[in-house]
Amino acid sequence: MNDLNHARNHVLKQIEQACIAAHRDVNQVMLLAVSKTHPSEMLSEMYMTGQHAFGENYLQEALDKIEALQDLDIEWHFIGHVQRNKTKHLAEKFAWVHGVDRLIIAERLSNQREATLPPLNICLQVNIDAQDSKDGCQPEEVAELVRQVSQLPNLKLRGLMVIPAPDHPQAFVDAKTLFDHVKAQHAHPEDWDTLSMGMSNDMAHAIMAGSTMVRVGTALFGARDYHQ
Ligand SMILES: *Cc1c(COP(=O)(O)O)cnc(C)c1O
Repeated sequence: MNDLNHARNHVLKQIEQACIAAHRDVNQVMLLAVSKTHPSEMLSEMYMTGQHAFGENYLQEALDKIEALQDLDIEWHFIGHVQRNKTKHLAEKFAWVHGVDRLIIAERLSNQREATLPPLNICLQVNIDAQDSKDGCQPEEVAELVRQVSQLPNLKLRGLMVIPAPDHPQAFVDAKTLFDHVKAQHAHPEDWDTLSMGMSNDMAHAIMAGSTMVRVGTALFGARDYHQ
């Protein structure tokens, strides 16, 4: 408990210092605790320090934790790659999905989200630095995707999510430029409020560039062991 509390306070301090350096209000940057590979007990301890937003990457692992921790008021974010055949669970169990990069995925999430639940918050994942990976739409595709996804019921399109290559801070600046460009053309600019970028090693650069949500795992929970 003390360790997690200490780690969280340290991360919050780093966020605050980056905000001060960037002349930004510290309330504009939210901390998402990335808890993949860590057991439910650890999330529960982290929750007790005041952390209520958690991000998970692997669906089955996440569903087990959501079940185990259902008595806690956790806001669950899915930050992994979204597979087309897994959208139903995401639509039912999560508050946010960050990795949407195709219209068909958004359509499925919208159809599968119960209208009685609050709308599912969505970030479009963009391959901002032309990485050789399948994840994320191209920057040129964003405007059209925003137009289409904004029309779907049961979703609330909030902004962009990027995972640039390490040591590439310019990618954060490019993401912010794209984010602002969309906002300037948006029919409801106040709804376009989230730029999800920055992890343990690069959160200061991301905040300098304009991140509104940093996704932090290692700096909060320690190194991950993928063999367990
Ligand atoms: C694992 C992960 C993180 C957290 O990374 P750390 O370096 O441990 O802070 C953030 N975002 C995504 C998409 C991840 O998969």
